[in-house]
Amino acid sequence: MQNGLAAAALFALVAAAPPAGRADVLPDVAEPGSAEDIAAATTEPRFLSPWVAYLPQSASVPSPRAFLHRIPGAAGELVESAQAYAYCRALAAASPRVRLFSIGRSEEGRDIVLLAIADEAGIQNLDGLKAATAALADPRRTDPAAAERLIGTARPVYYFNAALHSDETGSTESVLELAYRLAVSEQPMIRRIRSSLVVLINPVSNPDGRDKQVEWFYRYLKGKTDRATLPRQAPPYWSKYAFVDINRDAHQQTHETTKAVHRMFHDWHPTVVHDLHEAVALLMTWNGTGPYNPNIDAITFSEFLELSFHEVQVMNGLGMPGVSTWNFGEGFAHLFLDSVAMNHNAIGRGYETWGNGSAETMTWTLGPEDTSREWWRLVPPPATEFAWSARDNVNYNETAALAALDFSALHARELLSNFYQKGLHSWRKGVDEAPFAFLIPAEQGDPARVAALVARLLGQHIEVSRATAPLAVREGTYPAGTYVVRLDQP
Ligand SMILES: [Zn+2]
Repeated sequence: MQNGLAAAALFALVAAAPPAGRADVLPDVAEPGSAEDIAAATTEPRFLSPWVAYLPQSASVPSPRAFLHRIPGAAGELVESAQAYAYCRALAAASPRVRLFSIGRSEEGRDIVLLAIADEAGIQNLDGLKAATAALADPRRTDPAAAERLIGTARPVYYFNAALHSDETGSTESVLELAYRLAVSEQPMIRRIRSSLVVLINPVSNPDGRDKQVEWFYRYLKGKTDRATLPRQAPPYWSKYAFVDINRDAHQQTHETTKAVHRMFHDWHPTVVHDLHEAVALLMTWNGTGPYNPNIDAITFSEFLELSFHEVQVMNGLGMPGVSTWNFGEGFAHLFLDSVAMNHNAIGRGYETWGNGSAETMTWTLGPEDTSREWWRLVPPPATEFAWSARDNVNYNETAALAALDFSALHARELLSNFYQKGLHSWRKGVDEAPFAFLIPAEQGDPARVAALVARLLGQHIEVSRATAPLAVREGTYPAGTYVVRLDQP
């Protein structure tokens, strides 16, 4: 009942109040013209939230609108990787709340860039915060009392991965604006996020694919809005080597994109790895349909559901239709970038938003499979014809991301405590109950395949040792040199 009342009140605010000087903007001042540009690029008021209805003005930090001479999600425009990175560099140069890192280099030689955003104290202490999450990740060297002390000063690290699939173009636009908003807004919610978390943003995780897609858009798709007669919407190659889908690589780790994200994970130990996709109207936040992988701690799935239901609740409250939580993320598949988190006691999650496969505005009439009312989709997308723009997509993506960050900031200690607890469970399981290890005899079949198997385990940061003397176990005796995968590891 209370939620219903809050929803009605907020929706009235969205519909009735002018953008500048509004209570939900204060104490921010809107960058002149930004609210008007955003409203004009949004096809219906209900597809906008007050959180992203303006860009906060800053005297010292360039907004993406000032830098790109358009709002993120403007119709008919897509930012290529060099422009996105140039903006990220400008943001980091101007704001003491932003630092930029390079976490890899693509097959075609493009940087893979990571932004870290926090308040000034957080940015000045990034190394200390990284050391704290690394210590919490390994209970073998951090006892519960030490963990408790660390949790008092550590912060959850929340990582967003944009544009893994290069034909899903909206997330890059969205996270550039999110980065700016997090860096300069003085709204209480944003201040709380800045002081409680470290937010990591990989704005173009697959830059080779992004640039192919942007070139394709300007060459073949720009200005075309009739979906019935559109040319092919993506180049055949979504990166230098991957024909279509790069996301099946988390196991093999053959792409630089994948390697960079894995390196990032083991450097920062983020509490959340959040992959941004576009496949479901209007926004679906993953929660899987079950059954869930029993080898992943039950706490993870509770957090997973809690975060996604929070996003649905907030966006229902803001009056944005078509937000659901369902599908993807049972924790079995070792395909998407979220799996590195799921396999190491963090939370791997994702969104599917509604991209047009283009930066142009398109008209849609969705069928009952997208518009029926379900327990997991209580406010479905419109069942009648509606227009959907790239800015609408940015509005949904960024509003949901802010809801997730707000929840994480409000539950920072709990998330860190859970992260440590999950590592503790994982370690103790291998100490207290059989099986205690897997043995991989080195001399069997094709030695190259055995070596490849061990390399895959090491690539996933699973510790593998070798027996220095013959190993006698219940099942038999294994020679020196046998690979040993102990299960008492987090
Ligand atoms: Zn995708």
